[in-house]
Parts: sequence; C-alpha cells; structure tokens
Amino acid sequence: MELEFTEEEQAFREQVRQLLAEELTDQIKAATAKTTTVFADKDVAIAWQKILHTRGWAGVSWPKEFGGTGWTSNQRYIFNQESLRAGAPGLIPLGLRMLAPVLFKYGTKEQQDYYLPKILSGEHYWCQGYSEPGSGSDLASLKTRADKDGDYYVVNGTKIWTTHAQFADHIFCLVRTDMDARPQAGISFLLIDMDTPGVTVEPIITMAGDHEVNQVFFDNVKVPITNRVGPENEGWTVAKYLLEFERGGGTAATGLQLGMQELNLLLDDLPEEHELKKRATELAIEVDALTQMETDMQARVAAGKSLGSGASLMKNMVSGLGQQMSTTRLEALAYYGLPHNNLLWLNEQEGVGEERHQTAIGTYLNNRASSIFGGSKEVQKNIIAKTVLGL
Ligand SMILES: Cc1cc2nc3c(=O)[nH]c(=O)nc-3n(C[C@H](O)[C@H](O)[C@H](O)COP(=O)(O)OP(=O)(O)OC[C@H]3O[C@@H](n4cnc5c(N)ncnc54)[C@H](O)[C@@H]3O)c2cc1C
Repeated sequence: MELEFTEEEQAFREQVRQLLAEELTDQIKAATAKTTTVFADKDVAIAWQKILHTRGWAGVSWPKEFGGTGWTSNQRYIFNQESLRAGAPGLIPLGLRMLAPVLFKYGTKEQQDYYLPKILSGEHYWCQGYSEPGSGSDLASLKTRADKDGDYYVVNGTKIWTTHAQFADHIFCLVRTDMDARPQAGISFLLIDMDTPGVTVEPIITMAGDHEVNQVFFDNVKVPITNRVGPENEGWTVAKYLLEFERGGGTAATGLQLGMQELNLLLDDLPEEHELKKRATELAIEVDALTQMETDMQARVAAGKSLGSGASLMKNMVSGLGQQMSTTRLEALAYYGLPHNNLLWLNEQEGVGEERHQTAIGTYLNNRASSIFGGSKEVQKNIIAKTVLGL
C-alpha cells in the first residue's frame, strides 16, 4: 500500500514544525542528544511533555474525550517523524501509550477520572510490572500473588527489569489471583502506588553503566480492590491489549535514517573500498527497505487494517539494524569511541574526540537489549514462523 499525505496533512506537518521551532528548547535538545538509553531521562521527557500539554498536544494518541489530540494515525506519524528530526525526546510511553489505552477500554469511570489527567499532565509517572525472574517470554508463568483480604489485595512477590521504577510513583502490575486456574486464567491487572508500605526498588546497573532497569519487591503490600483494572482473573486479556500498543508501528525508520546520516559523515574521509563503507552501503539499503515497509504499514494502519505479524517483522528489523549501525559507528570511531559519558565515572577521565561521539559506546551497549525487551528476537521469530510460514 502507498502512504500518501493529503494537503491537510502536509499543512499539519508545517504546524508541527512551527511548534517544534517555537517550543523545543536548546536545553531539552542537548539533553536528548546525550541520551544513550531507550527512554530519555524522566526530567527531560517530562519537561517536554509539560510544554506539549500546555498546547493540548501531550495526548498524541488519545481520543479527544479524554483530553487527547484526537489525531488520525497519519497525524501521529507526522508528529513523531518531525519530533525526531527536530531532536525532541520521545514521550515516555509507559503511562501515555501503554496504560492509558487500557484505561480507555477497561478502566472504571473513577479510574479514568483520577488517573488519566495525571498521566497527561506528567504528574504521575508509571512503570510496567510484567516480567519476573523466570517469567519473561513465558509471562503467563508469573508468580507474584495477590490474596484477597476484605477490601484489599495483599501482594507478595517480585518484578524485574522494571524500566524507570526508580522514578515512578505508580506501577501497573500483573499478579496471580487464582493459584489453581490454568496459568493465563488466574491473572489480574493491578494499579499500585509505589509509596505503599512494603514496596522496595533495587537498582540494576547495566553493562552500559546505566541505571535504567530495576527489581521491584512486594512484601505484604495492601492494594485496594478498586485498583484492579478489568474483571478478576481476566488480567491476561488486559495485558495482551496493552502489548498491542507496545509493539505498534512507530517511526523507527526516521531514527535509523538520522543514524545513517551521522554514520556517513563519520565515514566521509574513508576510501570507497574500505570495509566500513561497504557495510554502510548495505545498511543504507536495508534502512531504505525498512522505510518502505514502515510506510506500507502506516498506510495499512491508516486504512484501519491490522498489522498482524508485520509488527514482529518490524521489531526484529529495527532492533537488528540499530545494533548493526551502532556497531559500525563504534568501529569507525575506534579509540575515540571508547571513553563515553557513562563509563567515564569508572575512571573520572575526560572523554576524547568530539562530544557528539561520546555517546557511541553507551548506545552500542544499550542497543544489545533491543532484541530482548518488548518480546525477544526469538519469540518474534516464533510468531512469524507460525503466522506467516504456518509452521
Ligand atoms: C532494557 C530492558 C528493559 C525492560 N523493561 C521492562 C519493563 O519495564 N517491564 C517489564 O515487565 N519487563 C521489562 N523487560 C523485560 C523483558 O520484557 C524480558 O527481558 C523479555 O520478555 C525476555 O524475558 P527474559 O529476560 O525472562 O528472558 P527469557 O524469556 O528467559 O529468554 C532467555 C532466552 O531464551 C529465548 N527464548 C525464550 N523462550 C523462547 C522460545 N519459546 N523459543 C525460542 N527462544 C526462546 C529468548 O529469546 C532469550 O534469548 C525489560 C528488559 C530489558 C532488557
């Protein structure tokens, strides 16, 4: 399918460019350029979200009835593309794009009225409590339990790899509410205030030196039953609905095109027959193919069609290309790529070379995780094998 933008959509693109030119501060741009992790730091992302909120643009994918923009999928695509090109931080999806759609569909009126405005304004900051030690790809085997006690559930267990739990004031969690049912049937979806007694957060420092993920422990944590989203023991259906948003189309091609420009600048002085130049040419071809695929998928979304296994194909292509690109960048920089903003704390040395390249090794190391989170590469291949190849 061809993705074509109407005149109104072209005019909307100009409107977005104008807003970015007026509102995106140099400070936010500089902090975004230094980001080597999946999400920008909370301070940076929330500062940008608050600016957008004053213009009514924070709920990019929200319907108007909940205070969102009510934009079409093409408008969202344009907004995300232009934001990336202008150097704006991505809005943190945990509340805005993951929990919010769940509350639109399954939340009670009270839950919607209380939580949604606070997600939109950035007052509440959420994290996602799905994975556990031993339950990642096989999520339905999760063991964190919630036992009913009057008007409360008492939650015990642990969640791991919880991104930004150190910043979050709330966590949405999958918990087991029926120990005897088959795995998927005994799970419920709970909203938990991180300030509740019994919740503790332990940092996990990655090999990139980042504090991005955590382990969260629940020790007799009392959670009001009214904080359950959807019916008891039907949390699996709610969770799957949320994951559809985690794995949506997106504008990854624009990010990879920008990465390609940066890489080409770096390789400019090398002779044409240099191994890294050949590799960059191959990468450029793959980025073009991915761009075509992404616009094709965007056209499908705009036409109201489902992405099917396309989302899995895209996930693997995007993470694979991002990893190859950051590897090539690091090899091209060689010595100048090594000292970087995060590893510097190990020896407190100044970085060498241009400041913009000091993110190279951080990005390279952090990118290793992209083929694990949001459904690992092998799990995506299983989906493709089943749905496309019929295996
Ligand atoms: C940076 C980062 C951030 C994350 N953030 C969050 C978060 O905020 N909240 C959250 O809940 N989780 C988060 N996760 C967890 C993530 O969802 C899990 O790591 C992921 O689902 C894989 O689970 P696992 O780590 O338990 O690995 P496992 O499932 O144990 O997998 C180990 C290996 O076995 C392979 N494998 C597993 N099953 C199969 C199979 N059936 N067929 C073939 N191969 C298989 C996997 O591909 C992998 O290579 C994050 C992870 C990372 C790395």
